[in-house]
Amino acid sequence: MARIYIKTYGCQMNERDSEQVAQMLMERGHSITVREEEADVVLLNTCSVRDLAEQKALGKMGMLRALSRDRPIVYGLLGCMAQNRGSALLNELPHLDLVVGTQKFHRVADHVDQAIERKWSTRLDDVRFSIVDVDEEANSQRTIRDHVLGERQATAFVSIMQGCNMHCTFCIVPFTRGHERSRPLQEIVDEVKSLVAKGVKEVTLLGQIVNLYGRHEFVSVDGKSPFVQLLEALQEVSGLERIRFTSPHPIGFRNDLIESFGRLPKLVEHIHLPLQSGSNRILKAMHRTYTAEKFAALVDRIRSVTPTIAITTDIIVGFPGETDDDYARTHELADRVGFDNAFIFKYSKRKGTPAAEMEQQVPDSVKENRNQDLLELINSWAKRRSEPFVGREVEILCEGPSKTNPSRLTGRTRGNKIVVFEGAPQHIGTLLNIRIARSTGYTLYGHPVGG
Ligand code: SF4
Repeated sequence: MARIYIKTYGCQMNERDSEQVAQMLMERGHSITVREEEADVVLLNTCSVRDLAEQKALGKMGMLRALSRDRPIVYGLLGCMAQNRGSALLNELPHLDLVVGTQKFHRVADHVDQAIERKWSTRLDDVRFSIVDVDEEANSQRTIRDHVLGERQATAFVSIMQGCNMHCTFCIVPFTRGHERSRPLQEIVDEVKSLVAKGVKEVTLLGQIVNLYGRHEFVSVDGKSPFVQLLEALQEVSGLERIRFTSPHPIGFRNDLIESFGRLPKLVEHIHLPLQSGSNRILKAMHRTYTAEKFAALVDRIRSVTPTIAITTDIIVGFPGETDDDYARTHELADRVGFDNAFIFKYSKRKGTPAAEMEQQVPDSVKENRNQDLLELINSWAKRRSEPFVGREVEILCEGPSKTNPSRLTGRTRGNKIVVFEGAPQHIGTLLNIRIARSTGYTLYGHPVGG
């Protein structure tokens, strides 16, 4: 049996896919190691969203080749970059044994076993024997369903759909993840029930445009979209305390979903609402299908139903053709909304996407200035949004030791604010109230109430 090292780049969907791969390999008797130097099999689950992410994975795979000096090692690239580049990767990295795309994660264990067999018995290291599996596969979205839960793990990601049909002009996802495919509602509910039976209290539903779940497969009932029907079904799962979802598309927020925040108590008060730009001209060039005015009105509608809701976002600065005036509109809208947090991206070309071919690419120095300016605004709003928590009690779900200081514990509020506190091991995996003593903007610090 082999020791398998898996490194994941990119988003939560990739983390979730890696978890599925790990579970299948463990089921066959292999073990997972976090130490690359003791691995028999090295798998990198890759991201293609930015060129830098691809370069990182390629560099890492190149470096890890040195491990095979003393013993036969199986090397595999999985996921988005594998899908995007396919067999061309074998030219760049001749020691690669496996290239497995985004619709084939459930086949990784078979491929690994086959490659191990060949390497261990014959020591073959010939590119002609490499396995490239990047075809589309019907129903592959239904294969990401098993979990590897740690001790007292109270949160879990649940993949509910794959792919995206929106074709935003900057985005590689429709090419790497394929068209939208959703899982049957009952299958998702059953998965959540089995997680809850193992101690999970909070699930985060995952999809590239998660709130448009099921729009091609299932019908609306009583004016409720398939996604709202799923939220309602999960609301009924006994023992489940919190429901989150990411990442939605603004056009998927119709009244049925907005009203759900007012009537489904398990749905937490946090929405990640990608804005991308505050300029209508740029939104159109991005093919984002809403305007700045519609986005602002949507935020107002959401806040009218749930005034305390936390709203976070993604914004791209320096999209091709973005003028100072376009950027000023983004700044203005971000200030009007007052986001709790934002991921700001400097536009970077992705080969094969329409935006990469657009004229008027913005110089790096301009992107950097806009990035810094927007960061300042977002930081100041994060502080303003967090300050009111100081002196108050908040409910958190404790996830375990803090990454920055393992002697403390960490958890999240329903609004997704990170809380660090001095706690005890029995707090891990439980809901508890914390009195907040101070805030740094993105992190709140406090102590358990009555403890
Ligand atoms: S909606 Fe999201 S995943 Fe789909 S193309 Fe646009 S940015 Fe990419």
